[in-house]
Amino acid sequence: MSGELLEEKLRGLPLLQYVFISTDELVFSENVRYICRTECPMYGRTWACPPAVGTVEQCREKCMRFTDGLLFSTVTEVSDIADIEETLSTRAPHEEITRKVRDMAAELYGEVLTLSTEACAVCESCAYTEGKPCRHPERMFPCVESHGIIVTELAEKHGMDFFNGGNIVTWFSLILFSEKR
Ligand code: SF4
Repeated sequence: MSGELLEEKLRGLPLLQYVFISTDELVFSENVRYICRTECPMYGRTWACPPAVGTVEQCREKCMRFTDGLLFSTVTEVSDIADIEETLSTRAPHEEITRKVRDMAAELYGEVLTLSTEACAVCESCAYTEGKPCRHPERMFPCVESHGIIVTELAEKHGMDFFNGGNIVTWFSLILFSEKR
């Protein structure tokens, strides 16, 4: 089974759910990019979002260099999910876990591609807006949707829970790798 070695290492991490996928299952949608362009305030403001991540076709090519993937979720309870500041504050611990999983996957499989949630929030102000290179490329994870992938569809296809209750914030990350065969 794909990901057996990685699965061993995941045991100590506070993941809610995870599933191994084949990159053949990934659907890359121009419609998602349209939503980024017309509805997201982060469009054109960070290296982690379009257009900096490249066209949907370039993102597809980047993803399809890998054969396998791990989609996982974490959850955090907040006092009021409508409080955007409190809700977004739960991202940092999810990103920390994502970094740990990325490192585990990289140790086992070499090159990996890590996609995570929302726009990058590592720096107070993104270097992209100053026309400068990313300051922390090793810590910067483009969001899954930035690559035209609808994470909710992928999660639902695999029976993963997207809504986990009133004040529970659920975050997803997708790590792509190629298992040595
Ligand atoms: S690490 Fe900093 S410079 Fe790089 S994408 Fe994130 S916010 Fe921008």
